Amino acid sequence: MNKSEASRLRLSASRLIAERHTLENVLLEHHRMLRGSLLERPKFCGKPGCKCTKGQPHPPGLCLSRLVNGTVRQIFIRAADHERARKEALAYKEYRQALRRWRAIDKELNTIWEDLGGSQEEGYPFE
Ligand SMILES: [Zn+2]
Repeated sequence: MNKSEASRLRLSASRLIAERHTLENVLLEHHRMLRGSLLERPKFCGKPGCKCTKGQPHPPGLCLSRLVNGTVRQIFIRAADHERARKEALAYKEYRQALRRWRAIDKELNTIWEDLGGSQEEGYPFE
């Protein structure tokens, strides 16, 4: 590895460290979180004569979809909980995204440290 490659690696490392620091601040924030993803479901009550049977669905229902023991489970969210559920599901999504990126950066940095370290190794006897 020549000098310019090594300084390019050092620059990448500094950038990754800065980005990782930003992510760590996201991960340190305290939020209540709802695991899973929210899906909007058109609602049909099915009562005879209701407008929904004539192609005018009710306001969509909100459904929480998540894995439980390897199976997808869906739970209806009560209308009164919609706002809170949306907020907490978003917080969950952001947390997971930050964690995924943090792990990827960790791997990248690991490779950089190994390469940089290797490029600074000397032979012996010294030249
Ligand atoms: Zn209906």
